[in-house]
Amino acid sequence: MNPGSAASTALCPVCDIPLRFAFKKGRFEYGRCPECGTVGTHPPPTDEELADHYAKAENYKVLKKYEESYAATYRRTARIVKDAAKRKMGVEGLENISALDVGCNIGGFVKALLELGADACGLDPYVNPDDISCEELKKRISRDESDYGGQADFLTMLGVIEHLRYPAAALAESRERIKDNGMIFIQTPDSESAVAKIMGRRFFAYQPVEHIYIFSRRGLIKALERAGFVEIEASRQWKFLSASYVYEQLGTWGRGFQWLLWPLRKIVPGLSLPLYGGGMTVCAKKNSCPKATEKAE
Ligand SMILES: [Zn+2]
Repeated sequence: MNPGSAASTALCPVCDIPLRFAFKKGRFEYGRCPECGTVGTHPPPTDEELADHYAKAENYKVLKKYEESYAATYRRTARIVKDAAKRKMGVEGLENISALDVGCNIGGFVKALLELGADACGLDPYVNPDDISCEELKKRISRDESDYGGQADFLTMLGVIEHLRYPAAALAESRERIKDNGMIFIQTPDSESAVAKIMGRRFFAYQPVEHIYIFSRRGLIKALERAGFVEIEASRQWKFLSASYVYEQLGTWGRGFQWLLWPLRKIVPGLSLPLYGGGMTVCAKKNSCPKATEKAE
């Protein structure tokens, strides 16, 4: 704890209490919430810094390059969403179910949802339309949120909430964009995962500028409850990624890790690796009548 540090004045986005200094990374400090374990940077990046960062972020170029191999990961995730929709919304499939993928990048996950029959759209203020591979997808992806006036049956955020400066407000806003009986599905790093604990300040998710708040599982559950969601389920996020993709992504985090995978990549470049990187998958149902529930409690 460093009481004089800047992070000691930053607040947990869930508990509204000061974060305690945890470690320094670059010119940013990260603090941890003593109540829920959520980790945040302080000072948060400015809008200019964020726009500048996303304009040149290398890992997004990698995503574009490996669009095909990443498609399998999105298809697996879409099937997980389909199962969640069955549990939360009581639907047998995603045919004609409307979906909004927030922070959709070049639309890989929107495409996977469309393949399952969903009426899916995407939103991403930083996407370059020229990077979107087909015309059908281009029509369904927007940089401007005012394009979506209505509500969707469900909303997805894959690797998004950790990038937001106001995540609690984003969850409350998300709830308004979801129809009654609908759900939200989130994937994000977990600040209290075993991987995060073992790696400490070297945890992949602690990326200043880009990742602002890394929630703990209990922190995200609390944030969702406050935003008006119920029936919250959380589990570990497994990723199945090609050895070549993982090799290249490790390069964006630091070359020191790359040698670990080099032999594997040479032998079986198309190999798909099941990886647990310290992420979590959380889905929850919209509480359509929060006031009535409060009274019942
Ligand atoms: Zn907290």
